[in-house]
Amino acid sequence: MEYSGEKFDVIVIGAGIMGSCSAYQIAKRGKKVLLLEQFDFLHQRGSSHGESRTIRVAYPEYYYSTMVIESARLWEEAESEIGYRVYFKTPHFIMGLPDDKKFQSVITNCQSNSIPHCILDHLQVSERFSGRFKLPENWIGMVTEIGGVIKPTKAVSMFQTLAIQKGAVLRDNMEVEEIKSCDQSGGIWVCTSNGEKFWGRKCVVTVGAWMKKFVKTVSDQELPIQPLQTTLWHWRIKDGFEKEFSVDSGFPTFSSYGEPHIYGTPSLEYPGLIKIAVDGGNPCDPDKRTWVSTLLESSVTQWIEGRFSGRIDSTQPVFTQSCMYSMTPDSDYVIDFLGGEFGKDVVIAGGFSGHGFKMGPEVGRIVADLVLNGDAMGVELRHFKLRRFEENPKGNMKE
Ligand SMILES: Cc1cc2nc3c(=O)[nH]c(=O)nc-3n(C[C@H](O)[C@H](O)[C@H](O)COP(=O)(O)OP(=O)(O)OC[C@H]3O[C@@H](n4cnc5c(N)ncnc54)[C@H](O)[C@@H]3O)c2cc1C
Repeated sequence: MEYSGEKFDVIVIGAGIMGSCSAYQIAKRGKKVLLLEQFDFLHQRGSSHGESRTIRVAYPEYYYSTMVIESARLWEEAESEIGYRVYFKTPHFIMGLPDDKKFQSVITNCQSNSIPHCILDHLQVSERFSGRFKLPENWIGMVTEIGGVIKPTKAVSMFQTLAIQKGAVLRDNMEVEEIKSCDQSGGIWVCTSNGEKFWGRKCVVTVGAWMKKFVKTVSDQELPIQPLQTTLWHWRIKDGFEKEFSVDSGFPTFSSYGEPHIYGTPSLEYPGLIKIAVDGGNPCDPDKRTWVSTLLESSVTQWIEGRFSGRIDSTQPVFTQSCMYSMTPDSDYVIDFLGGEFGKDVVIAGGFSGHGFKMGPEVGRIVADLVLNGDAMGVELRHFKLRRFEENPKGNMKE
């Protein structure tokens, strides 16, 4: 197949969840779209691979809760279009000290915006989860019913398949090394390291942890998006308790606020194993990763031993997986026009700061609106502006 020199309405660079959802949304609107990926499709060197991602409506910021609600609808819509499931519903459970600032913000958001939730003391938590969670007496828990687990690799594959069905062209092993405005006819030239060249009326950049490097190369702008290398740990559930920690048994996704911030998902793909990991990681260059596991602190093993009433083997994880976050200083996303010589012809979506996957379908919709119409209807995008870092290097100030 030869597409070099061919013209497209939109060229999307980077085929993780954000690029795949964007290509699908653009193709769905009848536009000719090309999706380019530097590695093999569905590779494991970015951020969108693995067993599970949490979807939760419980956020400190209301603008994310509303995006999740819309995204959940779009996940289900895509599932019915493709005919298989990637999204498995289960509640979300938060635990921590009642005076934890972030925990308080989540509760306030749920209370102020009528997001169904239930606050429990340590005894009620034990009862609600039939003894599977055990909290210290001075901790509280909060359960929200809108939540679940998404299978990431399968989900990316689903959106790529749907995009192809709508007429999108997908090419992998295409590392984009340059984009430039076309003086004569307008639009953008997209050039790859293997010498291919494509023309797009518009362009979308969804290159994940490579965003800072990419934007520096193509437009000499310094974006404060820091790639972090992080490690996922899977732990063995002790004999006889395996079923209790599965999605089918109503075991929730969970997040423990405080130090360390621990999160996890129910047992899903790997029978008898449960994912429990620490939020955060170590700064890295996405092209020179060490693949070395994040240091496992004793506070994590102690947390596992205590919180699950000894039903998880906390000696050591059974296996680990490496992944990357793309952190902004305020942990808010960047979804905006690149500006400069590209004006409104190039949209970038990145800096998803370790919490973007669940939003993929909604981000795809917003990106399609921005790149095709110049505006995203019904969404407040001021939190995601690129220029916020010029006004304040720390971005959106949060309490
Ligand atoms: C361990 C871990 C746990 C997480 N847990 C959750 C969770 O529970 N819930 C949640 O919502 N989110 C979670 N996230 C975050 C979520 O996974 C990410 O926000 C999301 O996957 C980012 O997707 P992306 O498409 O921006 O990046 P990526 O998936 O990395 O995709 C970017 C793509 O661009 C390609 N690319 C880069 N440069 C070029 C180039 N020059 N030319 C062509 N292609 C290029 C890359 O190869 C890559 O495939 C987690 C992330 C990690 C690492």
